[in-house]
Amino acid sequence: MSIQNHQVVAMKYILRDPETKEIIDQSPEGQPLFFITGLGQIIPGLEAEIMKMNKGDKGTVLVKARDAYGEVNPDAFQEIDRAQLEHIDGLKEGMVLYGQDVDGNQIPVVISKVSDEKVTVDLNHPLAGKDLLFEVEIEDVRDATPEELEHGHVHGPGGHHH
Ligand SMILES: [Zn+2]
Repeated sequence: MSIQNHQVVAMKYILRDPETKEIIDQSPEGQPLFFITGLGQIIPGLEAEIMKMNKGDKGTVLVKARDAYGEVNPDAFQEIDRAQLEHIDGLKEGMVLYGQDVDGNQIPVVISKVSDEKVTVDLNHPLAGKDLLFEVEIEDVRDATPEELEHGHVHGPGGHHH
């Protein structure tokens, strides 16, 4: 039986750019990513493929941008006065700054254009518009406990301790 909704999955992964094969992100050695299925905790295009797998399976999953972090939203570019960023040294195009959203979560902000007076910032996720190639290995699968489902996160190894 393949992975079901509301199970805790421990997954090793390497994320690459499908064209250049460059590594964008990976789970640290000995620290797989733990998540609960069916709660939207990983990108939908990856989760759909994971749900066909079993403990011990390895696979390669190509996720199109629309099923990953979405297409680039042209409305997510904002122009601000350069004076607002004057405390930042070496401001230049392509630089990534970290802002906070309303919930206090850190969100990456990419500097997309710098002129003498204005700076254009890109609030799209840095991986928006990109297809993603994942190499995954399912290390462990178990049922989530009622408490984990109530909290919406994994407890114990790889999760919350409280
Ligand atoms: Zn909890």
